[in-house]
Amino acid sequence: MPHRPASLNQAFDVLGLPPGALPDEVKRAYRKLAMHWHPDRNPAPEATERFRQVRAAYDFVLSGGEAVADDAASQEPAAQPEPSPEPSSTPGPDQHETLWLTIEEAIFGTSHAFELGDVLVCQTCDGDGKIELGRSCLCEACHGSGRIRTRKGLDKCGICNGRGFVSVVPCEDCNGTGELKSSRKVRVTVPPLMWAGRRLRLSGQAEPKEGRAAGDLLLEAQFKPHGLYRIEDDDLVMQMPVSGFDLLFGRRLRVPVPGGDAQLIIEPSTGEVPILSIDGHGLPRRSGGRGAMRVVLEPMWPDLSQTADQAALATLRAHLEARLDDTLPAVAQWRRQWLGSLDASVAEPDVAADTDNDSDLNAAGEPEREPKARKAKSKKTAGKRKATAEKAKASDAKSRRKKS
Ligand SMILES: [Zn+2]
Ligand SMILES: [Zn+2]
Repeated sequence: MPHRPASLNQAFDVLGLPPGALPDEVKRAYRKLAMHWHPDRNPAPEATERFRQVRAAYDFVLSGGEAVADDAASQEPAAQPEPSPEPSSTPGPDQHETLWLTIEEAIFGTSHAFELGDVLVCQTCDGDGKIELGRSCLCEACHGSGRIRTRKGLDKCGICNGRGFVSVVPCEDCNGTGELKSSRKVRVTVPPLMWAGRRLRLSGQAEPKEGRAAGDLLLEAQFKPHGLYRIEDDDLVMQMPVSGFDLLFGRRLRVPVPGGDAQLIIEPSTGEVPILSIDGHGLPRRSGGRGAMRVVLEPMWPDLSQTADQAALATLRAHLEARLDDTLPAVAQWRRQWLGSLDASVAEPDVAADTDNDSDLNAAGEPEREPKARKAKSKKTAGKRKATAEKAKASDAKSRRKKS
């Protein structure tokens, strides 16, 4: 019987449907018949032939009949003999595997020797996991007694079920699982711009099964975890520690992106942590192009206990205090309102380092009378306190960023 139906009515007939059945019904009928007659599932000798008929009828109905019929007729004249269906020439089923790629490989492409963990049916036991013996033999577990010694005493042997002999033994080749794992390597040329879930079809590269020609190997791309970037949809997200002063002063910074580096601009600010994003440096998108690289800045504040740093900061602070109305207007306004003056200093260099109240009260600008050792100690304490304050500021900024 030729595969191609002569008319639409005949095609509907092959699918077991009345003429003019709706597309949904056609699909359902096709799926049912295809499952039934698929040579992978149905060992009957006519299965391949019937499967082809069903497939041809389905294509015929879907395409509205005439066009395909004419086209097909010109390709394969009716007079020619039908190719005899040989089950061994039917390609085996597709094999699906995951192709784990690094982010860089997915973006720029690679030639990848990929190890497949194929699962094969054990040939020794034909996938049963057990071998039926021609004749029964002594049970090795209980040496034929049918009983084995346990902590509670003698118990029935579970291997031979107390019979003392067995006629079925587990397959040694597959340890009774019925499956064997083979690992083979397949060389894959991965094109650039692989998004997660994009598939590569390697025709005829599946593990051959049951003596049939090899089916296609389908590799679905997924990303391996990366040491620096985190994946969020099509974007890459990167944590990047920066000096807290970079947030205050602003700065152009080099940042690592897949395949090189890019430039990031931090605008000068009051120390707020900005959310920065560089377009086109993220992951390949299914819809085309690439996502963004998002940079999460982590401001770090230095330990300012070093004397040299203290001096530099003191200079900066003096500069700021001198133009308080411009630099810190809120502080200036508060002091004017509640202290009646811009100057809030008490005694230099330190206010509350000591319990000695008399020396604190000496605010008349007289020279220091503290002994040298004590002065050094109080300075150190002040340094520590300042560093603690800076750390608190940094962690405050951190928590603020987390909230946003
Ligand atoms: Zn086996
Ligand atoms: Zn036994």
